[in-house]
Amino acid sequence: MGATAILTRAVVGLQAHAVTVECHIAAGLPRTTIVGLAEGAVKESRDRIKSALRTCGFHFPRGHVIVNLAPSHLTKSGSSYDLPIALAILCASDQIEISDAARTEFVGELGLFGEIRRIDGLLSCALACQKAQHGLYLPAANEPEAALVKQGKLRIAAHLLDLCGHLSGKASSSVKAPAAAPATHPHPLEATYTQILGQSAAKRALLIAAAGGHHLLMVGPPGTGKTLLAKSLADLLPSLTDQQMLEVAAVYSAAGIPRPNYHMPPFREPHHSATDAALIGGGQTPTPGEGALAHHGVLFLDELPHFRASAIDLLREPLESGVAVIARARYKVRYPCKFQLIAAMNPCPAGRVCSETSCRCAPNQVQRYQSRVSGPLLDRIDLQVRVPQLKHETLTRLEQQADRAETIDALRDQVQAARLCQERRQGHTNNWLAAKHLRHEMTEAGLSKDFLTQALQQFQLSARSYHKVWRIARTIADLEAQDKISQAHMVEALGFRSLPWDQGLR
Ligand SMILES: [Zn+2]
Repeated sequence: MGATAILTRAVVGLQAHAVTVECHIAAGLPRTTIVGLAEGAVKESRDRIKSALRTCGFHFPRGHVIVNLAPSHLTKSGSSYDLPIALAILCASDQIEISDAARTEFVGELGLFGEIRRIDGLLSCALACQKAQHGLYLPAANEPEAALVKQGKLRIAAHLLDLCGHLSGKASSSVKAPAAAPATHPHPLEATYTQILGQSAAKRALLIAAAGGHHLLMVGPPGTGKTLLAKSLADLLPSLTDQQMLEVAAVYSAAGIPRPNYHMPPFREPHHSATDAALIGGGQTPTPGEGALAHHGVLFLDELPHFRASAIDLLREPLESGVAVIARARYKVRYPCKFQLIAAMNPCPAGRVCSETSCRCAPNQVQRYQSRVSGPLLDRIDLQVRVPQLKHETLTRLEQQADRAETIDALRDQVQAARLCQERRQGHTNNWLAAKHLRHEMTEAGLSKDFLTQALQQFQLSARSYHKVWRIARTIADLEAQDKISQAHMVEALGFRSLPWDQGLR
């Protein structure tokens, strides 16, 4: 009897571990056993495979069919093992032969009639196969992800019969290389930015945030356009580079979420009732959270004080390191989490019924509401800006003027130019600027000691906030294509750290 080991992959987090599927057919009563730490969905594959093989005209071997998934210490979950197990059974019962089995891998779920269905985490498998210089047969439904892998021996297949025909040397037009991804990547313009009337301070903060990759908090009453502003940040961000696009696509592939445009920076907007696991990742089998889904894009938390304190605390680590590490009893995974946090909140708990001049809330209510946003988180948000209610006259005047001379394209070019300065100087955006680089910037700037001491005292800056101000000033200088940070840049940067938290934001 043929004893061919079939290669496949087990995706844990974003890692695709090599797995070998072996099959042995022993004498005995007819039954099928799958061993090797296989979980529920893998054990169910028995019945799917049996049905698929019979409807495709193969026979399911008599006797005791033993399937082993090695290495046995790695938990196998999900349905991507259906196809490799089916092929291992076909090889063991001499119904097919695979010529280059030691350098070819297979992934896919099987339907009852032999159709090969999409799996989660395909991109991680494809990249791992590319690295190992192995060929990979994958479901046709995963073609858009597979198309992102430029080099690699990938083949898509839609049906088990087509695949078996192809493996036995018959020409099959349906087993083919994935179509190349479109080379152009247009930025679909929603241009939300130009819909916003007034709010010049918030728009300026947004531009700086986009240019330097900084985090931003907007404080203002409902209906002032905070959500629109947050969404327009995605419009201002440059398209993802090929490397960034692959990193983001791997996360979405692991989560099983399709992306219509892989080059757009992602924008995620979780509801404030989101659980810790939904926000940061986790669960029974590791799933990426909103933080990872916003990698190289924007994570927008509207109504920040309403989020669970525990969830917000969990965000501190990825904000600092750009990585979310999730350790559970059965696994430990790392997801990339370099998102830009845009948070929004009302100045007081009542929101809509209060205005800036007449707030009906009791001071202790306001204080309790604001204290739900923890100090350590605020310390990590670089830019803090007020989004005030516009007076009716101002609104109508702005509506008539329609001061939309600033086109989104020109602004995006400005952001792109500033990012290019940063890329050349330090290889990443200013929000990740290391202390060593900052010290160099401080010496270069040569600002007066008195001015800096006064700023430190007046704004009661912590060491972390002080560094944040310098990073913002660096970005402002980059927007003006200046080599050195000037006092004017510093003054503008300080303006974004001056919300009167101690006076209840009034
Ligand atoms: Zn109020």
